[in-house]
Amino acid sequence: MKRSVLFISLLSLFLFSDAHAEEKIKVVTTIPDLADMTRNIGGNLVEVSSIATGVEDIHAVPMKPSFAVQLNRADLVVLLGLEAEHAFLPALLEAARNPRILRDGPGYIDASVYITPLEVPVRIDRALGDQHPMGNPHYNVDPVMGKAAAKAIADGLSRNYPEHAATFKQNLDAYLAKLDAAIMRWEAEAAPLKGKKLVSYHPDLVYFAERFGMEPAGTIEIRAGIDPTPGHIADLEDRMRREKVDLVVREVQYPAGLAETVAQATGAKLVELPVMSGGTPETRDYISFIDYNLRTMLKAVQGGA
Ligand SMILES: [Zn+2]
Repeated sequence: MKRSVLFISLLSLFLFSDAHAEEKIKVVTTIPDLADMTRNIGGNLVEVSSIATGVEDIHAVPMKPSFAVQLNRADLVVLLGLEAEHAFLPALLEAARNPRILRDGPGYIDASVYITPLEVPVRIDRALGDQHPMGNPHYNVDPVMGKAAAKAIADGLSRNYPEHAATFKQNLDAYLAKLDAAIMRWEAEAAPLKGKKLVSYHPDLVYFAERFGMEPAGTIEIRAGIDPTPGHIADLEDRMRREKVDLVVREVQYPAGLAETVAQATGAKLVELPVMSGGTPETRDYISFIDYNLRTMLKAVQGGA
């Protein structure tokens, strides 16, 4: 009797400590770019899933009950911030009933804290449907901004799990070194893009353009979240012909037809790009995503595919 009680208590102790040792920090991110960064920084201490897969419009990610379940079980949530996720994250967080990851909760990690946003509006008017009330939130397309996001994620992890801070710091440094090496290569490769003018469907490439010396020359949308009208397209095409715009970018989450028409009407080259990793099969992580976008732009301006 005594022996079997001892055996059972030893067994449960073993099972408990084993389960405990394997228990990972559960992180839910809004986009795959942030999931990849979190995996790089958290290493085998974290278990990460992303709400978006990379093909969605970040301002309109379809909500599924399973997302609320994931968030309910999460220790941390990592988001782009600057209201990019306004259309789905606040509602999902409310449904998830997990006070730890509510805005202002300890587990709410806003990856934009070190970003100085571009295109901050002088007047915010949600009634006009503006999707960028805090400035342009699509900073993930610029790898230097990506470094800032990685630092914010590492800070958030260390704040919540100070006992692992040294590991997170070491992993962050290794990841930043990898990004720095890639950035040096990208900046050299991007030379042919300097001064090239681009029109995109939505204003989600301004940080990319800024980083690599390109000039944003308007959008097919009237402004972020405002659908085009025939009058707007006619004005845009006139201006594109006058200013000799080189490229029309159709982001994978927007319809192809209108971008094609605008490119054909103005003689600009049509380029199709994801604005998050996972948006195409080639963009399996953050570095391959930046790599793919840069190569696709280069191919277009150099007369390739
Ligand atoms: Zn946007």
